[in-house]
Amino acid sequence: MDIKFIKREELQEKPDQKKLGFGKYFADYMFTMDYDEGIGWHDATIRPYGPIEMNPATVVLHYAQETFEGLKAYRRADGQIQLFRPEMNARRMINSNERLCMATIPEDMFIEAVNALVKAEEDWVPSEPETSLYIRPFAFACESSLGVHKSKAYKFVIILSPVGAYYAEGLAPVKIMVEDEYVRAVQGGTGFTKCGGNYAGSIIGQVKAEKYGCSQVLWLDGRERKYVEEVGAMNIMFKIDGEIYTAPIEGTVLPGVTRDSIIHILRDWGYKVNETHLSVDDLMQAGRDGRLEEVYGTGTAAVISPVGALVYKGEEITINNFQIGELTQKLYDYLTGIQWGKVEDKYGWTRLVK
Ligand SMILES: *Cc1c(COP(=O)(O)O)cnc(C)c1O
Repeated sequence: MDIKFIKREELQEKPDQKKLGFGKYFADYMFTMDYDEGIGWHDATIRPYGPIEMNPATVVLHYAQETFEGLKAYRRADGQIQLFRPEMNARRMINSNERLCMATIPEDMFIEAVNALVKAEEDWVPSEPETSLYIRPFAFACESSLGVHKSKAYKFVIILSPVGAYYAEGLAPVKIMVEDEYVRAVQGGTGFTKCGGNYAGSIIGQVKAEKYGCSQVLWLDGRERKYVEEVGAMNIMFKIDGEIYTAPIEGTVLPGVTRDSIIHILRDWGYKVNETHLSVDDLMQAGRDGRLEEVYGTGTAAVISPVGALVYKGEEITINNFQIGELTQKLYDYLTGIQWGKVEDKYGWTRLVK
Protein backbone atom coordinates (compact mmCIF):
# COMPACT_ATOMS: atom_id res chain seq x y z
CA MET A 1 0.00 0.00 0.00
CA ASP A 2 1.28 3.42 -0.95
CA ILE A 3 0.76 5.82 1.97
CA LYS A 4 0.98 9.55 1.33
CA PHE A 5 2.28 11.76 4.13
CA ILE A 6 1.01 15.28 4.74
CA LYS A 7 3.20 17.13 7.20
CA ARG A 8 1.82 19.15 10.07
CA GLU A 9 3.13 22.67 10.55
CA GLU A 10 3.50 22.52 14.29
CA LEU A 11 3.52 19.54 16.63
CA GLN A 12 1.55 19.59 19.88
CA GLU A 13 3.14 19.52 23.28
CA LYS A 14 2.89 16.00 24.75
CA PRO A 15 0.63 15.61 27.79
CA ASP A 16 1.91 14.63 31.25
CA GLN A 17 2.20 10.82 31.19
CA LYS A 18 1.00 10.61 34.78
CA LYS A 19 -2.30 12.33 33.98
CA LEU A 20 -3.35 10.76 30.71
CA GLY A 21 -6.75 9.37 31.67
CA PHE A 22 -8.56 7.61 28.85
CA GLY A 23 -9.21 9.04 25.39
CA LYS A 24 -8.60 12.69 26.25
CA TYR A 25 -5.51 13.45 24.16
CA PHE A 26 -4.90 12.72 20.50
CA ALA A 27 -1.63 12.29 18.61
CA ASP A 28 -0.49 14.73 15.92
CA TYR A 29 -1.44 12.54 12.99
CA MET A 30 -4.24 10.30 11.80
CA PHE A 31 -4.63 7.81 8.96
CA THR A 32 -7.39 8.18 6.40
CA MET A 33 -8.36 6.12 3.37
CA ASP A 34 -11.37 6.38 1.07
CA TYR A 35 -13.48 3.79 -0.67
CA ASP A 36 -15.57 4.27 -3.76
CA GLU A 37 -17.55 1.59 -5.52
CA GLY A 38 -15.78 0.56 -8.71
CA ILE A 39 -12.42 1.93 -7.49
CA GLY A 40 -11.91 0.25 -4.12
CA TRP A 41 -9.80 1.70 -1.30
CA HIS A 42 -7.64 4.61 -2.38
CA ASP A 43 -5.73 7.67 -1.12
CA ALA A 44 -4.22 6.10 1.99
CA THR A 45 -2.81 9.10 3.81
CA ILE A 46 -1.17 9.95 7.12
CA ARG A 47 -2.26 13.54 7.75
CA PRO A 48 -2.50 16.06 10.59
CA TYR A 49 -5.15 15.11 13.18
CA GLY A 50 -8.15 17.31 12.57
CA PRO A 51 -11.81 17.67 11.59
CA ILE A 52 -13.40 15.59 8.86
CA GLU A 53 -15.67 17.72 6.73
CA MET A 54 -19.07 16.19 5.96
CA ASN A 55 -22.11 16.93 3.90
CA PRO A 56 -25.11 17.13 6.29
CA ALA A 57 -26.77 14.34 4.29
CA THR A 58 -23.90 11.90 4.90
CA VAL A 59 -25.38 8.44 5.48
CA VAL A 60 -23.58 7.74 8.77
CA LEU A 61 -25.15 10.78 10.44
CA HIS A 62 -28.64 9.47 9.75
CA TYR A 63 -28.48 5.68 9.63
CA ALA A 64 -25.40 4.91 11.76
CA GLN A 65 -23.55 2.74 9.23
CA GLU A 66 -20.38 2.78 11.32
CA THR A 67 -17.96 0.26 12.83
CA PHE A 68 -14.88 0.63 14.97
CA GLU A 69 -12.05 -1.24 16.65
CA GLY A 70 -9.87 -0.76 19.71
CA LEU A 71 -6.33 -2.01 20.31
CA LYS A 72 -3.15 -0.71 21.91
CA ALA A 73 0.54 -0.18 21.23
CA TYR A 74 2.74 -0.92 24.25
CA ARG A 75 6.24 0.35 24.99
CA ARG A 76 8.55 -2.38 26.21
CA ALA A 77 11.35 -1.85 28.72
CA ASP A 78 13.90 -1.96 25.86
CA GLY A 79 12.09 0.94 24.17
CA GLN A 80 10.61 -1.10 21.33
CA ILE A 81 6.90 -0.86 20.61
CA GLN A 82 4.57 -3.80 20.18
CA LEU A 83 0.98 -4.54 19.24
CA PHE A 84 -1.13 -7.30 20.76
CA ARG A 85 -2.90 -9.68 18.33
CA PRO A 86 -3.79 -6.95 15.79
CA GLU A 87 -4.94 -9.59 13.28
CA MET A 88 -7.85 -10.39 15.64
CA ASN A 89 -9.02 -6.78 15.41
CA ALA A 90 -8.57 -6.77 11.62
CA ARG A 91 -10.68 -9.92 11.27
CA ARG A 92 -13.34 -8.70 13.66
CA MET A 93 -13.66 -5.47 11.72
CA ILE A 94 -14.19 -7.47 8.53
CA ASN A 95 -17.03 -9.35 10.28
CA SER A 96 -18.52 -6.11 11.59
CA ASN A 97 -18.37 -4.42 8.18
CA GLU A 98 -19.90 -7.43 6.46
CA ARG A 99 -22.84 -7.40 8.88
CA LEU A 100 -23.38 -3.68 8.23
CA CYS A 101 -23.00 -4.12 4.43
CA MET A 102 -19.93 -1.89 4.41
CA ALA A 103 -16.80 -2.25 2.29
CA THR A 104 -14.29 -4.39 4.20
CA ILE A 105 -10.64 -3.51 4.86
CA PRO A 106 -8.43 -6.53 4.04
CA GLU A 107 -6.50 -7.87 7.04
CA ASP A 108 -3.04 -7.00 5.68
CA MET A 109 -4.13 -3.48 4.76
CA PHE A 110 -5.56 -2.91 8.25
CA ILE A 111 -2.35 -4.08 9.93
CA GLU A 112 -0.14 -2.12 7.56
CA ALA A 113 -2.12 1.07 8.22
CA VAL A 114 -2.00 0.60 12.01
CA ASN A 115 1.69 -0.22 11.89
CA ALA A 116 2.57 2.76 9.66
CA LEU A 117 0.67 5.27 11.78
CA VAL A 118 2.08 3.99 15.09
CA LYS A 119 5.57 3.97 13.58
CA ALA A 120 5.14 7.58 12.42
CA GLU A 121 3.87 8.55 15.87
CA GLU A 122 6.18 6.39 18.00
CA ASP A 123 7.03 9.35 20.23
CA TRP A 124 3.39 9.27 21.33
CA VAL A 125 3.69 5.79 22.84
CA PRO A 126 4.11 6.58 26.56
CA SER A 127 6.55 4.73 28.82
CA GLU A 128 5.16 5.25 32.34
CA PRO A 129 3.83 2.05 34.00
CA GLU A 130 0.31 1.05 32.89
CA THR A 131 0.30 3.54 30.00
CA SER A 132 -0.10 2.72 26.31
CA LEU A 133 -1.14 4.24 23.01
CA TYR A 134 -4.80 3.42 22.35
CA ILE A 135 -5.50 2.86 18.65
CA ARG A 136 -8.99 3.57 17.37
CA PRO A 137 -9.65 2.49 13.77
CA PHE A 138 -13.16 3.23 12.49
CA ALA A 139 -15.08 3.19 9.24
CA PHE A 140 -18.29 4.82 8.12
CA ALA A 141 -20.59 5.31 5.15
CA CYS A 142 -19.93 8.71 3.60
CA GLU A 143 -22.23 8.82 0.61
CA SER A 144 -24.59 11.82 0.77
CA SER A 145 -28.15 10.65 0.32
CA LEU A 146 -31.21 10.29 2.52
CA GLY A 147 -32.38 7.03 0.99
CA VAL A 148 -31.81 3.98 3.18
CA HIS A 149 -29.55 1.70 1.18
CA LYS A 150 -26.04 0.31 1.05
CA SER A 151 -23.63 3.21 0.65
CA LYS A 152 -21.27 3.35 -2.32
CA ALA A 153 -18.58 5.34 -0.45
CA TYR A 154 -16.78 4.76 2.84
CA LYS A 155 -13.99 6.26 4.86
CA PHE A 156 -11.55 4.37 7.06
CA VAL A 157 -9.79 6.42 9.72
CA ILE A 158 -7.34 5.62 12.51
CA ILE A 159 -6.73 7.97 15.42
CA LEU A 160 -4.34 7.52 18.35
CA SER A 161 -4.72 8.45 21.99
CA PRO A 162 -2.07 8.03 24.71
CA VAL A 163 -3.84 6.52 27.73
CA GLY A 164 -3.22 5.68 31.36
CA ALA A 165 -5.03 3.06 33.42
CA TYR A 166 -8.71 2.97 32.37
CA TYR A 167 -10.03 3.56 35.87
CA ALA A 168 -8.69 6.56 37.76
CA GLU A 169 -8.86 4.47 40.97
CA GLY A 170 -6.50 1.83 39.50
CA LEU A 171 -7.23 -1.91 39.60
CA ALA A 172 -10.02 -1.48 42.16
CA PRO A 173 -13.21 -3.55 42.10
CA VAL A 174 -16.29 -1.95 40.54
CA LYS A 175 -19.97 -2.33 41.31
CA ILE A 176 -22.16 -3.53 38.45
CA MET A 177 -25.90 -3.32 37.89
CA VAL A 178 -27.71 -6.19 36.18
CA GLU A 179 -30.08 -4.59 33.66
CA ASP A 180 -33.47 -6.30 33.53
CA GLU A 181 -35.47 -3.80 31.47
CA TYR A 182 -33.43 -2.73 28.43
CA VAL A 183 -31.47 -5.14 26.24
CA ARG A 184 -28.30 -4.67 24.20
CA ALA A 185 -28.46 -7.41 21.59
CA VAL A 186 -30.64 -10.17 20.18
CA GLN A 187 -29.96 -13.20 18.00
CA GLY A 188 -29.82 -12.03 14.40
CA GLY A 189 -28.92 -8.49 15.41
CA THR A 190 -25.56 -6.73 15.58
CA GLY A 191 -24.37 -7.76 19.07
CA PHE A 192 -21.27 -9.55 17.72
CA THR A 193 -20.11 -6.46 15.83
CA LYS A 194 -18.33 -3.40 17.12
CA CYS A 195 -20.72 -0.85 15.69
CA GLY A 196 -21.53 2.55 17.12
CA GLY A 197 -25.25 1.80 17.05
CA ASN A 198 -24.87 -0.90 19.72
CA TYR A 199 -23.53 1.74 22.07
CA ALA A 200 -26.14 4.37 21.23
CA GLY A 201 -28.85 1.97 22.36
CA SER A 202 -27.01 0.95 25.53
CA ILE A 203 -26.18 4.32 27.07
CA ILE A 204 -29.57 4.37 28.79
CA GLY A 205 -28.51 1.31 30.82
CA GLN A 206 -25.29 3.07 31.77
CA VAL A 207 -27.19 6.15 32.93
CA LYS A 208 -29.51 3.96 35.02
CA ALA A 209 -26.58 2.06 36.53
CA GLU A 210 -24.98 5.30 37.67
CA LYS A 211 -28.21 6.24 39.47
CA TYR A 212 -27.82 3.04 41.49
CA GLY A 213 -24.21 3.86 42.33
CA CYS A 214 -22.86 1.35 39.81
CA SER A 215 -20.19 2.08 37.24
CA GLN A 216 -21.25 -0.45 34.59
CA VAL A 217 -24.17 -2.47 33.28
CA LEU A 218 -24.34 -6.24 33.04
CA TRP A 219 -26.62 -7.10 30.12
CA LEU A 220 -28.90 -10.11 30.05
CA ASP A 221 -29.91 -11.99 26.90
CA GLY A 222 -32.37 -10.11 24.74
CA ARG A 223 -35.04 -12.81 24.59
CA GLU A 224 -35.71 -13.98 28.12
CA ARG A 225 -33.60 -11.52 30.12
CA LYS A 226 -32.49 -14.55 32.03
CA TYR A 227 -28.88 -15.32 31.06
CA VAL A 228 -25.86 -13.10 31.69
CA GLU A 229 -24.11 -11.90 28.55
CA GLU A 230 -21.61 -9.05 28.89
CA VAL A 231 -20.83 -5.64 30.36
CA GLY A 232 -20.92 -2.29 28.52
CA ALA A 233 -17.55 -2.60 26.79
CA MET A 234 -16.23 -5.78 28.38
CA ASN A 235 -16.89 -9.47 28.37
CA ILE A 236 -17.42 -10.92 31.83
CA MET A 237 -16.27 -14.07 33.61
CA PHE A 238 -17.41 -15.67 36.84
CA LYS A 239 -15.46 -18.07 39.04
CA ILE A 240 -17.90 -20.39 40.78
CA ASP A 241 -16.73 -23.43 42.77
CA GLY A 242 -13.31 -23.18 41.15
CA GLU A 243 -14.61 -23.19 37.55
CA ILE A 244 -14.88 -20.27 35.14
CA TYR A 245 -18.15 -19.35 33.40
CA THR A 246 -18.58 -16.91 30.52
CA ALA A 247 -21.23 -16.39 27.84
CA PRO A 248 -20.67 -18.22 24.53
CA ILE A 249 -19.98 -16.39 21.26
CA GLU A 250 -23.23 -17.08 19.44
CA GLY A 251 -24.12 -13.79 17.79
CA THR A 252 -25.10 -11.53 20.68
CA VAL A 253 -21.85 -11.22 22.62
CA LEU A 254 -18.83 -9.33 21.28
CA PRO A 255 -15.95 -11.76 20.63
CA GLY A 256 -13.33 -9.95 22.71
CA VAL A 257 -9.63 -10.37 22.01
CA THR A 258 -8.99 -10.15 25.76
CA ARG A 259 -11.70 -12.76 26.42
CA ASP A 260 -10.11 -15.15 23.93
CA SER A 261 -6.62 -14.60 25.37
CA ILE A 262 -7.77 -15.09 28.97
CA ILE A 263 -9.61 -18.31 28.07
CA HIS A 264 -6.42 -19.64 26.42
CA ILE A 265 -4.37 -18.81 29.50
CA LEU A 266 -6.91 -20.24 31.95
CA ARG A 267 -7.13 -23.54 30.07
CA ASP A 268 -3.32 -23.67 29.98
CA TRP A 269 -3.30 -23.18 33.73
CA GLY A 270 -5.66 -26.14 34.12
CA TYR A 271 -8.90 -24.29 34.80
CA LYS A 272 -12.19 -25.55 33.45
CA VAL A 273 -13.73 -22.75 31.36
CA ASN A 274 -17.45 -23.15 30.61
CA GLU A 275 -18.59 -21.05 27.65
CA THR A 276 -22.21 -21.48 28.51
CA HIS A 277 -25.52 -19.76 29.32
CA LEU A 278 -25.42 -18.92 33.02
CA SER A 279 -28.72 -17.68 34.43
CA VAL A 280 -28.72 -14.59 36.59
CA ASP A 281 -30.73 -16.55 39.19
CA ASP A 282 -28.03 -19.23 39.46
CA LEU A 283 -25.41 -16.47 39.59
CA MET A 284 -27.15 -14.63 42.42
CA GLN A 285 -27.72 -17.91 44.31
CA ALA A 286 -24.01 -18.73 44.02
CA GLY A 287 -23.34 -15.27 45.42
CA ARG A 288 -25.68 -15.81 48.38
CA ASP A 289 -24.16 -19.26 49.07
CA GLY A 290 -20.62 -17.90 49.00
CA ARG A 291 -19.72 -20.03 45.96
CA LEU A 292 -19.21 -17.03 43.67
CA GLU A 293 -15.50 -16.62 44.26
CA GLU A 294 -14.42 -14.01 41.71
CA VAL A 295 -15.91 -11.87 38.95
CA TYR A 296 -14.01 -9.78 36.41
CA GLY A 297 -14.58 -8.04 33.11
CA THR A 298 -12.16 -8.38 30.17
CA GLY A 299 -11.50 -5.78 27.46
CA THR A 300 -8.63 -3.94 25.79
CA ALA A 301 -9.21 -0.63 27.57
CA ALA A 302 -9.10 -1.89 31.17
CA VAL A 303 -7.60 -5.36 30.37
CA ILE A 304 -9.08 -7.00 33.51
CA SER A 305 -11.58 -5.21 35.68
CA PRO A 306 -12.44 -6.84 39.01
CA VAL A 307 -16.10 -6.74 40.01
CA GLY A 308 -16.74 -6.25 43.74
CA ALA A 309 -20.53 -6.27 43.82
CA LEU A 310 -23.57 -7.06 41.68
CA VAL A 311 -26.94 -5.35 42.02
CA TYR A 312 -30.01 -7.15 40.64
CA LYS A 313 -33.66 -6.30 41.33
CA GLY A 314 -32.68 -4.28 44.39
CA GLU A 315 -30.50 -7.02 45.91
CA GLU A 316 -26.78 -6.45 46.23
CA ILE A 317 -24.28 -9.27 46.55
CA THR A 318 -20.68 -8.63 47.44
CA ILE A 319 -17.93 -10.70 45.83
CA ASN A 320 -14.77 -11.62 47.70
CA ASN A 321 -15.37 -8.87 50.29
CA PHE A 322 -15.05 -6.29 47.52
CA GLN A 323 -11.39 -7.27 47.12
CA ILE A 324 -9.52 -8.21 43.93
CA GLY A 325 -9.59 -11.99 43.62
CA GLU A 326 -6.34 -13.95 43.58
CA LEU A 327 -6.93 -15.37 40.10
CA THR A 328 -8.08 -11.98 38.77
CA GLN A 329 -4.83 -10.38 39.95
CA LYS A 330 -2.74 -13.25 38.56
CA LEU A 331 -4.43 -12.99 35.15
CA TYR A 332 -3.96 -9.23 35.08
CA ASP A 333 -0.26 -9.50 35.94
CA TYR A 334 0.37 -12.26 33.41
CA LEU A 335 -1.53 -10.77 30.47
CA THR A 336 -0.27 -7.22 30.98
CA GLY A 337 3.21 -8.77 31.43
CA ILE A 338 2.97 -10.21 27.90
CA GLN A 339 1.54 -6.97 26.50
CA TRP A 340 4.32 -4.79 27.90
CA GLY A 341 6.97 -7.36 27.04
CA LYS A 342 7.87 -8.20 30.65
CA VAL A 343 6.77 -11.83 30.46
CA GLU A 344 7.82 -14.26 27.73
CA ASP A 345 5.19 -14.30 24.98
CA LYS A 346 4.94 -18.06 24.55
CA TYR A 347 1.74 -17.74 22.51
CA GLY A 348 3.30 -15.50 19.83
CA TRP A 349 0.63 -12.84 20.40
CA THR A 350 2.79 -9.74 20.20
CA ARG A 351 4.10 -8.05 17.09
CA LEU A 352 6.85 -5.46 17.00
CA VAL A 353 6.12 -2.18 15.23
CA LYS A 354 8.83 -1.72 12.62
C1 LIG B 1 -14.73 -4.06 22.54
C2 LIG B 1 -15.75 -4.75 23.36
C3 LIG B 1 -15.41 -5.81 24.23
C4 LIG B 1 -13.98 -6.22 24.51
O1 LIG B 1 -13.27 -6.65 23.40
P1 LIG B 1 -11.68 -6.65 23.40
O2 LIG B 1 -11.32 -7.12 22.04
O3 LIG B 1 -11.25 -7.58 24.46
O4 LIG B 1 -11.26 -5.26 23.66
C5 LIG B 1 -16.43 -6.48 24.89
N1 LIG B 1 -17.72 -6.11 24.73
C6 LIG B 1 -18.09 -5.09 23.91
C7 LIG B 1 -19.52 -4.75 23.78
C8 LIG B 1 -17.12 -4.38 23.20
O5 LIG B 1 -17.48 -3.38 22.41
